[in-house]
Amino acid sequence: MKKTGFYDPLCENKFEKRRGLIHRYPDRVVLTVTGRCFAYCRFCFRKKNWSGFNGFDLSGAVEYIKENKNIQEVLISGGDPFFLSDEQLGRILAPIKAIDHVKFIRIGTRVLSSNPLRIDNNCVSAIAEYKPLWIAAHINHTDEITKEFVNSASMIIDAGIPIVAQTVLLKGINDNADILERLFCKLVEIGIKPYYLFGCDYAQGNGHFRVPIESAVKIINKLRGSISGLCVPNFSFDLPQGGGKIIVEPDRLRKRYKNRYVFVNFEGKEFDYDDV
Ligand SMILES: *Cc1c(COP(=O)(O)O)cnc(C)c1O
Repeated sequence: MKKTGFYDPLCENKFEKRRGLIHRYPDRVVLTVTGRCFAYCRFCFRKKNWSGFNGFDLSGAVEYIKENKNIQEVLISGGDPFFLSDEQLGRILAPIKAIDHVKFIRIGTRVLSSNPLRIDNNCVSAIAEYKPLWIAAHINHTDEITKEFVNSASMIIDAGIPIVAQTVLLKGINDNADILERLFCKLVEIGIKPYYLFGCDYAQGNGHFRVPIESAVKIINKLRGSISGLCVPNFSFDLPQGGGKIIVEPDRLRKRYKNRYVFVNFEGKEFDYDDV
């Protein structure tokens, strides 16, 4: 039978230590608080969470975080955490914030692009209580940057909550350097740091969105040579079988002999570098 993608491409089920809690890396955990979103992305890697995954008991997850002192960051994700009410969000954030060894919290969301009006003064002041807090906003194209997107992002940033962006590289949508250059520069202009450009995970029904690594690296190379380093995210994708994320950059090392390195710069010119 033709392979059409995986039910759980990141093997998150294997790392789910408590209901909703994924512990893959030593210092940080992902807490999925809902399966609901404002819009369901065709290329979602967590489609498995879409059904029957809302309002469940997170006390086991909070206990686990309390017991594991090397966890210094909790990444609240979903689904979209902003699908919950401000009160529900507060009830999740408060006990996490109260844990001494948790130093900062991140919320992964697509709210700015899929429902920016969800972000109002009440919402911003509710979440600002839990600083240091970072927002990781999912956005793939400048067409998603509406006036409302900019307003909501500015309210969050003005409240002292920095925003980074995560983009999924999608065939036929944004797999070209000009489109991404415009997107990433526009984000920096708004005050949002492009953080990750993700290869599309091979979940069921995602195959036709996948872009070869070679094309992705070419795009990154082009961006590295033309726009501010602030505008260039890490190109990253998840290894199969739960291997975790890796970051891939254009290969700059041509040769090495003892402490002599030969590097190729962004213009394709070679330079010797004598290391210490
Ligand atoms: C992506 C991810 C994180 C966060 O990784 P960063 O590189 O810190 O952004 C944490 N846990 C899991 C399971 C992840 O997939």
